[in-house]
Amino acid sequence: MFNVYEFFNKISSLNPRIRLDAGQPDIKVDERIIEDAVSSLKRGETGYTKTPGLDELREKIAEVEGVEKENIIIGNGSKILIASQILRAKRIGILSPHWQAYESAAKVFGKEVKIFKTSLEEGWEPRIESLNVDLLILNYPNNPTGKILPREKLKEILEIAEDENVKVLSDEIYSDITFKPFTPARELYDNVVTIKGFSKLFSMTGFRLGYAIAQREDIKAMQKFLEITTTCAPIFIQRAGVKALEIKEEVKKRVVRIYEGRVRLASRILKGFEFYKPDGTFYLFVKTGVDGLSFAEKLLEKSVSVFPGIAFGDYRDFIRISLVSLRLEEGLEIIKEVKLCTSE
Ligand code: PLP
Repeated sequence: MFNVYEFFNKISSLNPRIRLDAGQPDIKVDERIIEDAVSSLKRGETGYTKTPGLDELREKIAEVEGVEKENIIIGNGSKILIASQILRAKRIGILSPHWQAYESAAKVFGKEVKIFKTSLEEGWEPRIESLNVDLLILNYPNNPTGKILPREKLKEILEIAEDENVKVLSDEIYSDITFKPFTPARELYDNVVTIKGFSKLFSMTGFRLGYAIAQREDIKAMQKFLEITTTCAPIFIQRAGVKALEIKEEVKKRVVRIYEGRVRLASRILKGFEFYKPDGTFYLFVKTGVDGLSFAEKLLEKSVSVFPGIAFGDYRDFIRISLVSLRLEEGLEIIKEVKLCTSE
């Protein structure tokens, strides 16, 4: 399996001028969020919290999400909560293209993986007749395609999950960066563990803060896992999370507008490339017509970094462009030039 983390390290050591590779937003974390973390530290909040998380944060999430506090658990980033669910399952279904960490975690934990491929030609919509897994991972808005599944299509898949008694892990970490209506899976099916986080909308990647919404027995299982691993998210980081949610609507308006503008810009400059115009996220999964890894390496020579499609499954002639740089326009022009050279 192509190791995207190694490729990321290679990019980082080359230090290219225009970075369009990782899912690291360039928009600054709001000052008010940082101030609350700092003032929490200065007040001496340096100890443990309860493993499920700070009451104030869980209450705020409950209010924002319209769920009960008891159905929420805080994680040190969302990834560890995802991993804890993969660890509990035997056979994991993943819709592809997909974020590599799902498949890597499943393999490291010795699980069976069943990949359901989708294609650009079919608008990245899955065609599923039966699942035959015990955990199905959904990720909409999707990394890397930016696709949001229409409600009816989502319902169809969740009905199959219900018939086969399959638990669904719905990774909705991009659900606040949307340009079209989005239906959370838990609105349509009960047996869902929803994963959310602060890394994308609020650019708080290094804070390592995420949460899950789930039925109590799933919350308990995640709690057990955190008890033996991270114990809790740092209290001052959780305070920052409370502030982030307080100003969420304001941040969302600003951030969505920025990414929507960048999608428009990219769509204009990359006319002639084939890709699905994203319904959400800040990614573009673009068909190169040639080997995506060679394409990414050619771009690196020109000091522009992207990830090759093989970082997201069996998509050799794609690259993923992350729209997270102030030098985006210049980067896109270089991508266009490289495409012209490779197709000559
Ligand atoms: N899920 C998806 C689909 C992602 O793309 C990412 C980060 O890139 C994560 C989860 C991880 O987020 P966190 O920083 O909360 O661990």
